[in-house]
Amino acid sequence: MAVLDVCANSVEADQAIALLQQMVSMGEPAQFGKSSECPVGEGNVAWQAETRYRSLIERLPVVTFMASLDERMQELYVSPQIETLLGFTQEEWLDNPILWFQQLHPDDRERWVTEFARTCSNGATFKAEYRMLARDGHIVWIQGECQIIRDDYGRPIFLQGVAFDITHLKKTAEIEEAKLAAEAANRAKSEFLARMSHEIRTPLNGVVGMLDLLLATEMNENQQRYAHLAREAADALMNVINDILDFSKIEAGKVEIESVEFDPHKVMEDLTELLAPIAAKKGLALGCMIKPDVPRRCLGDPNRIRQILTNLVNNALKFTARGSVNIRAAVESSSDEHITVKVIVEDTGIGIPADRLDRLFKSFSQVDSSTTRKYGGTGLGLAISKRLVELMGGEIGIESTVGVGTRFCFTLKLAKSANDDDLDHGDRLRQTRVLSVEGQPVYRKILSEQIEGLVSPESKVVDASQALPTLLAAEAEGSPYTVALVPYGTPEDEILRLSIRNRESLKGLKLVAILDMDATVDSDAIEKARFSSSLRRPITQSRFIDAIAEASLAATESIAVTPASGDTAQNNLQGLHLLVAEDNEMNQFVTRETLKRAGCTCDVVGDGALALEASAKKRYDLILMDCQMPGMDGLEATIRIRERELADGEPRIPIIALTAEAIQGDREKCLAAGMDDYVTKPINAGELFRAIGALKSNTPAPTTTPTAPAAAPALPSIEDPFDLAALLKRCMKDAKFAVNTLIKFRERACSDVQLLQQRLAGSDGQSIQNIAHNLKSAAAHVGANPLRRIANDIEQLSTEFNAEALSQKLLELNAEVKRCAEYIPQAIEDLSKAEEGSCKS
Ligand code: ADP
Repeated sequence: MAVLDVCANSVEADQAIALLQQMVSMGEPAQFGKSSECPVGEGNVAWQAETRYRSLIERLPVVTFMASLDERMQELYVSPQIETLLGFTQEEWLDNPILWFQQLHPDDRERWVTEFARTCSNGATFKAEYRMLARDGHIVWIQGECQIIRDDYGRPIFLQGVAFDITHLKKTAEIEEAKLAAEAANRAKSEFLARMSHEIRTPLNGVVGMLDLLLATEMNENQQRYAHLAREAADALMNVINDILDFSKIEAGKVEIESVEFDPHKVMEDLTELLAPIAAKKGLALGCMIKPDVPRRCLGDPNRIRQILTNLVNNALKFTARGSVNIRAAVESSSDEHITVKVIVEDTGIGIPADRLDRLFKSFSQVDSSTTRKYGGTGLGLAISKRLVELMGGEIGIESTVGVGTRFCFTLKLAKSANDDDLDHGDRLRQTRVLSVEGQPVYRKILSEQIEGLVSPESKVVDASQALPTLLAAEAEGSPYTVALVPYGTPEDEILRLSIRNRESLKGLKLVAILDMDATVDSDAIEKARFSSSLRRPITQSRFIDAIAEASLAATESIAVTPASGDTAQNNLQGLHLLVAEDNEMNQFVTRETLKRAGCTCDVVGDGALALEASAKKRYDLILMDCQMPGMDGLEATIRIRERELADGEPRIPIIALTAEAIQGDREKCLAAGMDDYVTKPINAGELFRAIGALKSNTPAPTTTPTAPAAAPALPSIEDPFDLAALLKRCMKDAKFAVNTLIKFRERACSDVQLLQQRLAGSDGQSIQNIAHNLKSAAAHVGANPLRRIANDIEQLSTEFNAEALSQKLLELNAEVKRCAEYIPQAIEDLSKAEEGSCKS
């Protein structure tokens, strides 16, 4: 075997190369290494340098090699690390001139050669990633870098380079790639699921609707039962599909979090009210305690927050057999722009074993299959909640003890609203000393926590046996209670009420009746029992505040309403039973209260189709029909009623149209549709009573002339948010009615502003028009004239959908709503003074 000794200083490089080429052409494998004839010894400097160089490159974690660039492409040198890399010894590698090519992965050979040819032609460094097969057949990924050494004429003669083992890097990259592919596949699956759920939901909605229609028809007992069961099954299926739809939408990144102004108190309290019947059915107490520092206005996604809370509270109710479920909220931290609210949902239920807690927030996971069988559920609720909380920048966590209960806690990062400060209930309430009477310890605890910080710190919650002694002791000490909340409905409650009312020393105390959730209570009976206001369970802080505010306003003695003097028409309407078709909640409230004061009762429906249905089922003395309603409007409903009367030979029912504007020609349209008379909104009680009275006695209603307000509030300046005199007149000089109307209006206006903002964001001109129309009408009722004008502008603008002008008007509306809300405490005071004045006179 010929030996190429390039380390000997006696051999020049060009000679070595020539020798190499010669040997290669002779077919002898060249050996690049230490020659046996090489003189060894300290005196040989080149040998020493080569040894140092060799020991250095042979310690590197890389294989170094050199090969000839003749037709045989034979390896001339390879460092011993080749054995670690591919399992072949240095000798084996060098002995077999084509071994390197054999071990090059067949799939990479072509690429390698192409890359190499390109490098040869342009003279660059050869860099490539390719696979080699190790002795045992496993694949080793190589990153090779080599350079071509050329002779004096520029002809390539050697190839020298290094080979790195990059197998681990390749594996990591492959895993990453596989992960990305899996994620993409997962997203595609979620999108498919979302589409499918949507497709399933659409016909299912039809099934639910049809079943509802079927249930409203006459069926025998068995048929009713089957239809009911089918309806329940459809509901259950709908819940599952909704969960899947939601989950897959979140997974597919299709859920967007909104940022609209909303009232966190309202979201939590509305949910409490909604779920209270489920809690009551299971005998559970459901409490909602929100610290007063939680803002009334902030920016966030109320629907998603409601969804999270609904899931947590529903779970808590599902997994609790006795005790209570509480929602608590408090501010955790606050910065200039944001506020973080911590919400807790805790129960005294079955609890969750510690070793199962970590799997809870994963999709499709339930604590154990027996729980699932017993309670049902998809196991998606918590996974959805977690993702929603995180999308909103918060965190969710859980603590639980088996047999004791579970506590879910999540944070909400909400943007502060410029409008937050308008609904503070003020010092007046915080100075009011309130005694609450509550029989059940669990509710006593809830109520004590709820009123903390809202009313005077000397306020108490006691059971019935302690009520009278506590009231008397406070009276004797010279710091009497202002308001007492007492339960209403049972004989024991009545005894307590009488024992309080019969005490001369407690004459100044105002009583608020606590009504059971589903109690059907006659409000006249409550007034006769000399309660200043009433409060229905579940007691929420907002209901509590409204009841106390109302009670503080009421006169100490009976607040029974005396009919307005001179309104003889009103006195003739006693006992009439009317149907009111009106979609606007605010107008429904006002119309019902107005009629009540004339001794009429009424049923209220929200659209023409329902009016048609209700009037077919029951005989009413008269119908008050709003003209503009969603779905079937009042004109069409009237035409259909008249057609039915003709077809079935029914007696003709008097119908009075209620319309928002007295537009020329409206009266004719109403009469042409078959209505008998026409009253414009905002309703003037006297005008309405006269119209009803006239129809009932078959005499036409005399034309009304506007009468001057008889009440005492100061006449408003043009810029006042409310025309209180007009409001009081419309409420028949009943300050309590007027105050309730204002409170309702405030709620309504605030939520309408939010709705309008959402609809504007969704470019939904038709909805904007409807909301603005209704708000305009509600504003007209309470005499909120500036607000009414803005609502009218919005209604007009919405027809052409000028987004810029609308958004400007919405800002104006927002500011005006805020001004109205700020003015309400003052308005309440003015109204109560007005009532005192009119009582004295
Ligand atoms: P599901 O729709 O099945 O209720 P969730 O994701 O909401 O799905 O809940 C997953 C599981 O977590 C439930 O099946 C139940 O085992 C457990 N769980 C959730 N909330 C509670 C709770 N308040 N008390 C006890 N177990 C709970």
